[in-house]
Parts: sequence; structure tokens; C-alpha cells
Amino acid sequence: MAKDEILECSFCGRKKPETDLLIAGLDAHICDKCIEQAHGIVAEEMSHGGSEALNSDLEVKRPLEIKAFIDEYMIGQTAAKRVMSVAVYNHYKRLTQPETKDEDSVEIEKSNIIIVGETGTGKTLIARTIARMLNVPFAIVDATVLTEAGYVGEDVETILTRLLQAADYNLEKAERGIVFIDEIDKIARKGDNPSITRDVSGEGVQQGLLKLLEGSVVNVPPKGGRKHPDQKFIEVNTKNILFMAGGAFSGIDKVISKRLNRQAVGYGASINEDKIDEENLIQYIIPSDLKSFGLIPEIIGRLPVLTYMNPLDAKTLRAILTEPKNAIIKQYAKLFEMDDIKFTINNSALDYIVEKAIEYKLGARGLRSLCEAVLTDAMFELPGSEVKELKVTKKYAEEKLNKSTLRKLKAVS
Ligand code: ADP
Repeated sequence: MAKDEILECSFCGRKKPETDLLIAGLDAHICDKCIEQAHGIVAEEMSHGGSEALNSDLEVKRPLEIKAFIDEYMIGQTAAKRVMSVAVYNHYKRLTQPETKDEDSVEIEKSNIIIVGETGTGKTLIARTIARMLNVPFAIVDATVLTEAGYVGEDVETILTRLLQAADYNLEKAERGIVFIDEIDKIARKGDNPSITRDVSGEGVQQGLLKLLEGSVVNVPPKGGRKHPDQKFIEVNTKNILFMAGGAFSGIDKVISKRLNRQAVGYGASINEDKIDEENLIQYIIPSDLKSFGLIPEIIGRLPVLTYMNPLDAKTLRAILTEPKNAIIKQYAKLFEMDDIKFTINNSALDYIVEKAIEYKLGARGLRSLCEAVLTDAMFELPGSEVKELKVTKKYAEEKLNKSTLRKLKAVS
């Protein structure tokens, strides 16, 4: 090619001045427009790669491996980890099972999960960690914003809008994702008597959720909400979406206690009375307790795997601070390291932070706010200064915390 000849795109023939960018290959050139178009074709092809391609993408691990992965990010909660590892394993085994028309073949049903436990005990964390391990789209939705169709609030279908968004609108990926429905207890029917009044916010939403949980084709507004009346619905099949629901079900311990006491005096008592751990009744939860709390039986049936999170004691909180792969203290050390500052915190300072988290009734979520209160001054002042080392002691932590607004929580609790 002569030197002064104008270069052109070997695909569409546009001359260099007509393009924003012309990239040279060995014997050819390609312009920005053709790159974009080619990218679109690749994306399209990939998304239609079929379930086999997606299935081979799925990294299905065995329950022991799943638990080992969660262990890296999460302290304790062995019961929930075991139950959920099995449920997730079975769910993805079900997914990879070849479809058969054989009427006699055993059909594996969905293993949607419900996790009961106080707020801040790791319900979202375990769901998120599992999604991270499987590398599938993950969406968290809050059940409190959902209402029955026709009322103010969000329709249940918008749950799937979030999942579509998390999957970058790749439908096939979304259809193998995980949805975590938080605060499921907040849509419980108030009271155990269905006939008193019609309960719009509770039972209606539960009814709406049913069809999602059981596996059906749902018309989903891709942009969510009702603000875009013209949007074209996307049909999402929920058959292979794994639903996890979480809730604090505060007061459920009384339901459990009542049941256990009844059992203990009745025939066929299964748990010996003197073996009951009164401090942690949640471990004895069974599906019927959820019914007494106001979840309709159909919903309970569609969330067949029931597990619980133990309340966090001081020992667990202390471990949460330093042990998980991305423990809070490790994160601060990394942040300081980026400014060439060596950050250390001694045991008594860590114990002090845990003590305050318990005293202020902040749970695991409070550990972060407490650390922030202790370290903000240093994070503000040290970068760029002469100081290259920060050693946090209990005295230092006490001083900083006494200055902070968090201290006011003491009056509240
Ligand atoms: P929940 O969904 O039960 O309200 P989250 O999963 O949001 O609670 O947990 C709150 C915070 O506490 C998160 O930052 C989470 O990382 C941390 N956390 C809670 N439990 C644990 C645990 N067992 N191990 C490690 N971190 C935990």
C-alpha cells in the first residue's frame, strides 16, 4: 500500500477520516463501528449458547467444598452452612440433570431455602457467598417493599427485574441465578386467624410470591416499577432460580418454647426437657413454627429447606473482626498499607470493640461502625504525614470512641 494512500476498514470500507478509530492488524484494519458490531454479535451468540454452555460454566462443588468456601468468609453457623451446602448442591444437581420426557423418571424438586435468625447474624452474607462461589447472578430484595398488585409499592415481579439487572439482562444467566428475599417475616399474616380481616400487605404478597417460588413463567418489567408503562415485558422462567428467604421472626422463640413445652408434657415427647438449651431456642425451629408466625402453609411448602442462624456471642464477634478472608481489620490494614502506614491493633483493643458492640446491641454490623469511629481520625490525619505506623491500643480506642457520636447509643440501649 502506498504511503499516502488513505487507510480504510477492511470490513466496512470506511476511510480512516470517517472513523473515530482504526485499528491495524497484520494485513487488515478494523474501525470502531465494526468492533462494536462484532462485540454485539459475540455477546448475542454467547447469550444463546444454550443451557449446556451455561451448565458447563456452572461450577458445581460438593457440599464439603461448598462449606469450606463459605468457611473462608464466615465464622461459625455450622448448622446453616451444612444445610445450605446440601441444598445448593442438590439444586445445581437438579439443574445439570438432562431433561427427560420419561414419565417414570424421578423429578428432583426445587430446594428453596428459608433462614431464620436475628438481624446481622449473616443471613445475607451466606447467600451472597454462595452466589459468589457459583458465579451466578445474585439479587437481594426486601420483602417489605412488595405489595399485592394494584396497591402502592412494588409488584412481586420486580424481584426478577433485579435479578435480570444483576445478570446484565442475560436472560439465560438470570434464569439460573439466586434471589435473596430479605425480611420475609414482615409479610407474615398478622395473627394466626385468616378470617378476621383481609390483609393486603401480608397474605396477598405471599400469594404473589408463590408463583415465583414454585417455578413458572413470569412477565417481568425489565425496568421495574410502574413508572415505565410502555416497557416490553420479558418472560422469565423461575423454574431454575434458587430462592433464599431470610427473616428475624422476632418473638418466634416464644412459639418454639410453647411448642417444646407442649411436646415435653404430651405423648411422644421427642426432646428431653432437661436437654433443651433455653438460651438458644432457634435451633429447634420447625416449619410449623413459621405457620404460627403467620406464613401461609403454601409458602412454607415452597421453601422446604429451613435453617437458622445462631445469635452472635462475644467469641464469634471477636473472630469476625479478624478471621474471615476479608475481615474488617484486614481491610483497614490494607487501606493503611496503601499509604505506606503499618497498622496494628492489639488484643485488648479488639476485645474492647467487641464489648462495645454487645453493649450498644449493634451485633456484627456494629463492628464496622465502631472500627470506623476508632480509626477515622487516623485515616484523616496520617496519609501524607511523617507518621508511618499506627498501633491501636485499648486506651487509644477508648479515647476515640468517647469522642464519637456512637457513644450516644449507650443512652438508647
Ligand atoms: P443479616 O442478613 O442476617 O441481617 P448480614 O449477612 O447482613 O446479616 O450480616 C451483617 C454483617 O455482619 C455483614 O457485614 C457480615 O459480613 C457480618 N457477619 C455476620 N455474621 C457473620 C459471620 N458469622 N461471619 C463473618 N461475618 C459475619
